[in-house]
Amino acid sequence: MQIEPLHDLVRTHTCGELTVANDGADVVLMGWVHRVRDLGALVFFDLRDRHGITQIVVREDSPGLVDEANRLRAEYVVAVIGTVVRRAKEAVNPKVKTGEIEVVAREIRLLNDAKVPPFPINEDTPVAEETRLRYRYLDLRRPKLQQNLILRHKAMLEIRRYFDEQGFLEIETPILTKSTPEGARDYLVPSRVHEGEFYALPQSPQIFKQILMIAGMDRYVQIVKCFRDEDLRADRQPEFTQVDLEISFATENIVFSTLEPLMDRLLGLIGRRATAPFRRMPYAEAIASYGSDKPDLRPGMELKDLSEPFRESAFSLFRGAIESGGGVRGFVIPNGVKYSRKDLDRLSEEAKQLGGGGIVWARRAEGSVQSSALKAAGEDVIGRALDMSGAGPADLLVMSSGAHDPTARLLGSLRLNVAKRENWLDPNRFEFLWVVDFPMFEWLPDEQRWEFMHHPFTSPLESDASRLETDPGSVRARAYDLVLNGSEIAGGSIRIHDQRLQRLVFKLLGMSDEEAKLRFGFFVDALEYGTPPHGGIAIGLDRVMAILAGEASIREVIAFPKTAQAVDLMSGAPSTVDPKQLRDLKIRVAE
Ligand code: ASP
Repeated sequence: MQIEPLHDLVRTHTCGELTVANDGADVVLMGWVHRVRDLGALVFFDLRDRHGITQIVVREDSPGLVDEANRLRAEYVVAVIGTVVRRAKEAVNPKVKTGEIEVVAREIRLLNDAKVPPFPINEDTPVAEETRLRYRYLDLRRPKLQQNLILRHKAMLEIRRYFDEQGFLEIETPILTKSTPEGARDYLVPSRVHEGEFYALPQSPQIFKQILMIAGMDRYVQIVKCFRDEDLRADRQPEFTQVDLEISFATENIVFSTLEPLMDRLLGLIGRRATAPFRRMPYAEAIASYGSDKPDLRPGMELKDLSEPFRESAFSLFRGAIESGGGVRGFVIPNGVKYSRKDLDRLSEEAKQLGGGGIVWARRAEGSVQSSALKAAGEDVIGRALDMSGAGPADLLVMSSGAHDPTARLLGSLRLNVAKRENWLDPNRFEFLWVVDFPMFEWLPDEQRWEFMHHPFTSPLESDASRLETDPGSVRARAYDLVLNGSEIAGGSIRIHDQRLQRLVFKLLGMSDEEAKLRFGFFVDALEYGTPPHGGIAIGLDRVMAILAGEASIREVIAFPKTAQAVDLMSGAPSTVDPKQLRDLKIRVAE
């Protein structure tokens, strides 16, 4: 079969659009051969494009055409000229929009052939991710990824529409810029013109959006790529997309009430709703009650302080933890009474692997108290802990002891393991939560210094600001995260707008005046020219899209993602470059 030029042949319809309403119409379709079914004298094949699939029939009364159709292979690109006919009743496929018709071909033009793809496009077979990423153009032909990208497009449109309605301006900020501190390493770009000098790719447009507030832009939004060179965890990409926004004269309530209706509209794209206002929870409570600063509220099972019964008990492990300033915490697994010895051993094993001091379980079975610490603690003490935890007769209590935060984190992880195993993380439920009042700083023991928790432009809570110099560890920030089903989907803060306070915070972060001037001099200067109070937030668009698309990985909602090693398997980036390019840049790669 000869490959033919397109000439001036024009598509009349896409492969997803013909119905009985087009019965009898003369049409021209173009697309990829999805599947060929050779029934001897008769050939059927499916023609596919992004819009759908249409069945093509080549009838025995055109034998030359039957021969041609028989030579078609999957992924060949063809044009079909033919007539729409209704299918016989028994041949109707109600699952697809075009399922009531087929196109009887009069002419088939082969526009291009194709190698045998390394994995089938027409079957939903599992394929190694490495292969999928290497041949991303083929992977992207598969329906699920196409749906995901279509959904992403719709979400981006909705976002732009929404912010436009709310009086925001989309303003682009530079990609070749100076370092913005978001806690990761910068990607650097050498300057050819200024030997030995570098641009940094933005970790976020943070400083620019604040400067836009100083510039009187009032409300800014941008769907923007950010770059962070960090060791990649499962849900990270070296370049990712944020919906970045900033609001002048903002308070927390203004930021929250800007985002909540947007979330409702985004969920609307998948036929769901989000009910505002979302719950709010201080960081300290999130850690104490869920062992996480991004609690998944769906499975319940809140952690409780159960120290009281053990305070004076004979159980030295728990009593000792309390005496050294820690405590006992626990959570209740509904219907855990059914757990076998093996299940209980597995729980203990998991707790050990999570690196904690192990767990103690307890329950009331057939009227008597059972517990892994029954002998050590006594029936009375365990019974009191069960009462305090609110465990019912069908439940199981899991406890652990030690320093407060690590114990809560251990139990929090265990709680999530249990919830996953029991299928209590219902993907059709959307639990939003604002986590507020984060600590302003965290102590870096290795470096013996304070580091910012959000970024250095975050304002302290007014009530805590007086302790900035005397007790920085106790100062809470006006920082907030939006959490959805245990994923942090947005983070932001009310900013410092007073240059004196900004200087003090730089100093507390161990930055000398000189260093601060070198890194952020332009920004501190700008702050001195009438800066309005302002605040903002950035939404992690990739994560939101993964949740909306029901995907576990953000790579499923990004057209060309990188691997966990930050490699683009399709293009082969990063790669070595022409030595001349390095010479131009005056760069020598060290051996
Ligand atoms: N720039 C911050 C970030 O990327 C978001 C913000 O504070 O608005 O996390």
